[in-house]
Amino acid sequence: MEKIVSLCKRRGFIFQSSEIYGGLNGFWDFGPLGVELKRNLKDFWWRRNVRERDDMVGMDGSIIMNRAVWKASGHEETFSDPMVDCKSCKARHRADQLPEKDGTKYCPNCGSRDLTEPRAFNLMFKSYAGPLESDDNLVYLRPETAQAMFVQFRNVLDTSRQKLPFGIAQIGKAFRNEINPRNYIFRSREFEQMEIEYFCRAEDGLALTDYWLEQRLKFYEDIGIPRDKIHVVDIPDGERAFYSKKTYDLEYEFPFGVSELEGIAYRTDYDLSRHIEASGKPLEYHDQEKNEKFVPHVVEPSAGVDRTTLALLCEAFDEETVTDENGKSEVRTVLRFHPRMAPIKVGIFPLLKNKPELVAKAKEVVAKLRPHMAVSYDEAGAIGRRYRRQDEAGTPFCVTVDFDTVGENGPEKADTVTLRHRDSMQQERVSIDELLPRLAAAIL
Ligand SMILES: [Zn+2]
Repeated sequence: MEKIVSLCKRRGFIFQSSEIYGGLNGFWDFGPLGVELKRNLKDFWWRRNVRERDDMVGMDGSIIMNRAVWKASGHEETFSDPMVDCKSCKARHRADQLPEKDGTKYCPNCGSRDLTEPRAFNLMFKSYAGPLESDDNLVYLRPETAQAMFVQFRNVLDTSRQKLPFGIAQIGKAFRNEINPRNYIFRSREFEQMEIEYFCRAEDGLALTDYWLEQRLKFYEDIGIPRDKIHVVDIPDGERAFYSKKTYDLEYEFPFGVSELEGIAYRTDYDLSRHIEASGKPLEYHDQEKNEKFVPHVVEPSAGVDRTTLALLCEAFDEETVTDENGKSEVRTVLRFHPRMAPIKVGIFPLLKNKPELVAKAKEVVAKLRPHMAVSYDEAGAIGRRYRRQDEAGTPFCVTVDFDTVGENGPEKADTVTLRHRDSMQQERVSIDELLPRLAAAIL
């Protein structure tokens, strides 16, 4: 994990938030490579779950909503973790995460066993909407994106002309005031979710939960996280939320332990029913053909953007010993991202930076590819070092423009370049015209 954290900082994937002021516990910034990686993940999720389907529509709800939403959903009452204070060093801890020795729990900070009784700590961040800091103006930063999709169910249904079963998808920020943020970006206080609420008839709920499990496993496979790295946990009776009839947790083998990436919960008609009751508004579904009215059930695949980004980094990270042409061996650090997730798709280099014809030709290739993919132009240093830099960034392809390209060694080699593959380090000669179709197919 240390190596991954260090690479992420060194190469500009992830920085501590407000680092020059000592950071802020539980908050992170994504740098130039990190933001591309995260965007590729979100874009592909959106494409798979919204654009490629007839039965899904998207929305983008506000982060701050009427407080009544969180009363109805139960968050104001019960969205809390048990917290204890250490009477000796005053540190606060999550009671269910305390280390234990000889049957008693102790403070991980100072070792004291003099702890308060656990009490509920609500995880929602509070603020005020408007100039008065009064109870009437109290608002919360949303702790999940899901509720916007429930409270807008009627509007989405009426405007999208969908029929059951259909889903609403949303990607957005959520906030939880975690007592002890930990494991890098895995558990932070500000994070992003990719959530689906898939509405259906009661009799289809269980089968659709299994259907979504399969869809989601396929998704992870398609971004480069193989099935055998994901543990599917079928949460047993008694451990699920009381309203859920089936819940799967999808867990990934992180270096710090097997931890949850996504939950797929069959939530029955709980959420819509709560909002019908609290708002008095009709959120029922009206089936015109069968002339029946009922509250739809819902299956919720809910994934974490930051967690999945971290899983992508962990899965891609590799170090291998390679021998160069002079017989010298060195350790190559490489991020083996699936090409569709890679922050930069292709590095483009002129062999030498002091040859204007090579530089001009390389820039021509850049201009050709840039409208279609993220490109990095690099002319500094030996070619081998430029390859290594792209390996560390996870760039799947590199293109080198040399004297053959500009026709110095005969017309048959003109307008061809060296295409180098990150994982195998194999190089091949391809024509410039071939580049776009080849690369576009690989990153789709
Ligand atoms: Zn202590």
